[in-house]
Amino acid sequence: MSNVDTAEIQKFSEVAHHWWDPNSEFKPLHEINPLRLGWLDGHAQLASKAVIDVGCGGGILSESMAAKGATVTGIDLSEKALKVARLHLLESGREVTYRHIAAEDMAAKNPAAFDVVTCMEMLEHVPSPASIVRACAQLVKPGGWVFFSTLNRNAKSYAFAVLGAEYLLKMLPKGTHDYAKFIKPAELAGFARAAGLDVVDLTGMTYNPLTKIYALGRDTDVNYLMACRRPAEPGTPA
Ligand code: SAH
Repeated sequence: MSNVDTAEIQKFSEVAHHWWDPNSEFKPLHEINPLRLGWLDGHAQLASKAVIDVGCGGGILSESMAAKGATVTGIDLSEKALKVARLHLLESGREVTYRHIAAEDMAAKNPAAFDVVTCMEMLEHVPSPASIVRACAQLVKPGGWVFFSTLNRNAKSYAFAVLGAEYLLKMLPKGTHDYAKFIKPAELAGFARAAGLDVVDLTGMTYNPLTKIYALGRDTDVNYLMACRRPAEPGTPA
């Protein structure tokens, strides 16, 4: 099993000690977190749910879901990011179980073990996003939710997410994102359906560089979130 780009893991590991600094390269993740958390809680009602956060990094989303009352497991392949995530629990007093394991291995060992699977800002960093989507579909219980977010691939997303964010506004280090790995919503929906998931919501996320405000809405040209559900087994309530 080697659906991992070690250069990508290295990149995140090198800056992992900044993860909880809201003014670091992780600032965008801190700023979008309340938006995405509200969106996924609205769909899946996180309180008391078993959640797995795939590609959890330093745990920004994982911790916030735990704060909503979910029982959260975070997995990632960057040891350093996980170390930072575990250390931060001492500061926040929250509970999250962090594990260094590939999504595919976790899925093989724990099929249908989670009510909710989140995989945010991660698919654009792996060699085979389809394989991660399959693993997520395997991890979720019938009737459960799977949430993805990633970057669309078109001229505008190149201009905003690469040129704008990395070169012009310097919000992210150069080389953070590889345009060729961006994923169109139709492609992600295709991976999800091929893995047996139903696509139930596609929401865009925009950033206004003048007001510095992020918002959810219909514009999926650059950043977007996709909500999927694994169909309930016949004869069981959804
Ligand atoms: N999901 C988090 C972090 C996004 S950063 C959030 O949105 O807040 C991307 C994360 O994906 C990094 O922590 C990186 O280590 C992880 N990652 C990249 N490739 C991976 C792989 N193949 N398997 C697991 N995690 C991976």
